[in-house]
Amino acid sequence: MTRMARETPAGDLRLANLTKRFGVFTAVDDLSLTIEQGSFFALLGASGCGKTTTLRMIAGLEEPTSGQVLLGDRDIARLRPYKRPVNTVFQSYALFPHLDIFENVAFGLRRRGIRSVDDEVTRMLSLVQLDGYGNRRPAQLSGGQQQRVALARALINRPQVLLLDEPLGALDLKLRRQMQIELKRIQTEVGITFVHVTHDQEEAMTMADTVAVMNAGRIEQLGAPADIYEFPATAFVANFLGQSNLLAGEATGVSGGDVAVTAHGTRLSVPAGRSRADHGPVHLGVRPEKLILVGSADQVPAGHQHVTGVVTDASYVGVSTQYLLRTSWGTELSVFAANSGTSTRVAVGSEAVAYWDPRHAFLLPRDAADS
Ligand code: ATP
Repeated sequence: MTRMARETPAGDLRLANLTKRFGVFTAVDDLSLTIEQGSFFALLGASGCGKTTTLRMIAGLEEPTSGQVLLGDRDIARLRPYKRPVNTVFQSYALFPHLDIFENVAFGLRRRGIRSVDDEVTRMLSLVQLDGYGNRRPAQLSGGQQQRVALARALINRPQVLLLDEPLGALDLKLRRQMQIELKRIQTEVGITFVHVTHDQEEAMTMADTVAVMNAGRIEQLGAPADIYEFPATAFVANFLGQSNLLAGEATGVSGGDVAVTAHGTRLSVPAGRSRADHGPVHLGVRPEKLILVGSADQVPAGHQHVTGVVTDASYVGVSTQYLLRTSWGTELSVFAANSGTSTRVAVGSEAVAYWDPRHAFLLPRDAADS
């Protein structure tokens, strides 16, 4: 399929010191970030963190208390919604029930007075893989299909930025996974900047080139999904994106390229390049899939670090078995062991050792709030 003809290049979308207050409550707090033109960007965060308010300020549905929304060099923050080269797809598809699918998709073109819409509507229906559905009514389509119509209806306007507010939230899990792949394909094909709001970390990581993790109106971390996952900036991000084991300890300085850490009397270390602190209270983090469970310390390979404990739970979840290991100092560690056929099973109640390659650990400063 041919790439969609582009309007004048929009440039990057930049939010500069964007703030929204509702009375004394600050929903979006001095937010500054750049969304590269043509990228798939996800705003990820728990309910109430300010994602939708941010999106609504980009769309023009909410007026910022202060700050700018820039598209290229142009500040669009005070333009009326319909004057912005921006379209939004909501979770509720908001299709017109009395119009057929063809007319739903054609709506934006007709409103602009364009008469010959057939080719463009056909092309859009094909883009979202709904060829031949033009004559149906929305009620005759499944939820996933209706979401595709909503997408086609927004894309036909050739916005420079497409905003997606939890667009897959109403779909069941399997369909949601399918649509994530679809959305990514469509975004690559049309080359429009997509800004996607979600609270589902797997969804954000599956689709986006760049993920911004939001918390209490601010960005905690922004980057490529793998970078954020592998080296989170804060304990909040480490816990929000997947699971993390965070061992509270004290960093005592750098030696030989490693930061030395003492945790409950155990001496550990993390490469300086994976450390965001080298002195004082820290969290030593290891992802559950980076921990390997064995029966005794003599099975730990050279160059690895370990803790001992007792297995308190083993849950078989198909691709892996998820263990809980209670360390002697009372921390509960989560260990994912792939059910590849080669991993050893460890019985609940038995003593075990969890080991890891220090290059897979990360070190974060620990403040009083999260110790
Ligand atoms: P969700 O995923 O639940 O939609 P969100 O991260 O998108 O959450 P927002 O909808 O942006 O969060 O809301 C951020 C905060 O601002 C919430 O605490 C919300 O209650 C508050 N808020 C949003 N709109 C208003 C409003 N019009 N008046 C007062 N408070 C508001």
